[in-house]
Amino acid sequence: MKRPWETFKAIPIRLTATNKMVDEEGKADLPYGRRQARTTANAVDPVRGCPGGITNDGRGCPWGCYSCESMKRYHRIFHIPVSMILKPELLRKDLENCPDDWIRFGINGDPGEDWNLTIQVARIVRESGKTPVILSRLWTPPTEPQLSQMANLGVVLHISICALDSYPATSQRLLFLKKYQAIGGKGIMRLVTFVFTDPEHTRIQNDLYNYGGPILEQPARLQRTNPNWLKVTQSRYHPYHTYTDKTKTTRWWTAGPQFSGSSCGDGCTICPNKCFTTPQTIKTPAPNITLKSNLYQDVQTLPNIDILDE
Ligand code: SF4
Repeated sequence: MKRPWETFKAIPIRLTATNKMVDEEGKADLPYGRRQARTTANAVDPVRGCPGGITNDGRGCPWGCYSCESMKRYHRIFHIPVSMILKPELLRKDLENCPDDWIRFGINGDPGEDWNLTIQVARIVRESGKTPVILSRLWTPPTEPQLSQMANLGVVLHISICALDSYPATSQRLLFLKKYQAIGGKGIMRLVTFVFTDPEHTRIQNDLYNYGGPILEQPARLQRTNPNWLKVTQSRYHPYHTYTDKTKTTRWWTAGPQFSGSSCGDGCTICPNKCFTTPQTIKTPAPNITLKSNLYQDVQTLPNIDILDE
């Protein structure tokens, strides 16, 4: 019998880990599945699934979404987001056991698909003395009161952007990034980078990098079956190492960082999660960000758009 495709089931929100978060100390000989992931887990998914999963021919964002891809194995309908169940006591217990001082929101879904729930979870994380770090593509932008609540909770908000996104989508993401920064929030542009063949995408990418404010470069990982593989200079790409057995895989290819020389703006090479919470990277920019780019200067005049045009 064929396995049916199903949406995510709503389950209690717990701290979780990906393979790259598993504590390796003293456990290097064990297969990853048998290491104590939960003791070092510092990620949480208030929402599983993401509407972005339906873009790029069902591969997710232009770079090809790793989460969307891996959920195919479990026959999950990734593009329908499902809010999980908040049981505050359970989550508090997980947080007590977590040695890290920050928690990443968004592994198998976009937390922005239920901002109210995400903010409730962020409040509990903050009460535990840790910094909430929320990663979103802003398919559903937060309201201004929600932005203020996040700023008050000291949420580090990462908004992912790349040069292959449509102009309205990028403008809206930049607009919210600026709004968040203007009210004192720690807003980070998470710029997913490529080595493009054509000068136009290269120019857009350079403009985004020079946009102003804190930027975290995230080199794209691509599968060669992704249609956007044809838009990159393939000779510059090399196989990406897997986190599960540390070998190179020919499934995912990367060209590495194009700008910063390190994936994370603060030069941290140890943490694979790029939190941007270290003191040197948490400089909140002045409300009036200097726009170095000509391309997105009209961003302040754009009306709010509810659903992004992608
Ligand atoms: S926004 Fe994130 S979770 Fe959603 S499809 Fe894109 S990469 Fe995947």
